[in-house]
Amino acid sequence: MKSACIRLCHVQEVQPATTVRGRASWRWSAHDRLTAADAQCALPQLLKHTVAVKTLEDLFVHELSDIHSAERQITKALPRLARAAENPDLAAAFEAHLEETNGQIERLDQVVELLGIRLKRIKCAAMEGLVEEGKEVIDSVVKGPVRDAALIGGAQKVEHYEIAAYGTICALAKQLGYDDALDLLKQTLEEEKATDEKLTMLAESGGNQRAAEAG
Ligand code: FE
Ligand code: FE
Ligand code: FE
Repeated sequence: MKSACIRLCHVQEVQPATTVRGRASWRWSAHDRLTAADAQCALPQLLKHTVAVKTLEDLFVHELSDIHSAERQITKALPRLARAAENPDLAAAFEAHLEETNGQIERLDQVVELLGIRLKRIKCAAMEGLVEEGKEVIDSVVKGPVRDAALIGGAQKVEHYEIAAYGTICALAKQLGYDDALDLLKQTLEEEKATDEKLTMLAESGGNQRAAEAG
């Protein structure tokens, strides 16, 4: 049993614990099936990486921490996307959204101050993946209309993630009676929706046509 624990901790093949109907469950790679007793042995290691969420307030703080991490990752990615775009309107849209994103982080900080909460030190894994996909696009598609079409698609995946995240956070804020925070969060939700629409417009008002002709 001890060797199984060491193997789990070192190669980290067990994914974080999830809760199904109040019971913890584990998954691990098919080539390394372990007994339930082995998994029990790994529980303290897994819990070290798990953020405790018990109440709706905890969930609100967790979601707020996650989107704060996501926004910070986006501020680092947007200048790279602007440089990678050929269409000046698309580059300008990325630059404009960078400014908006800085304002969105300020709003999140205002929410934190208003409610007197402390954010968790977590990294939004979804945004890490979406940013990585953006890098892959830049590496694999030469600068031009086809890359621009791919950048728009990638950016819209980011906006849709944010729209879903802020939608959830607004719903939680409403339920918890955080009215002032809700006003701030709604402003950001509207900005994300407007950015998504602007990107659709850039694709449909000539971007996709230029990409088709470039092939
Ligand atoms: Fe944002
Ligand atoms: Fe996330
Ligand atoms: Fe955004």
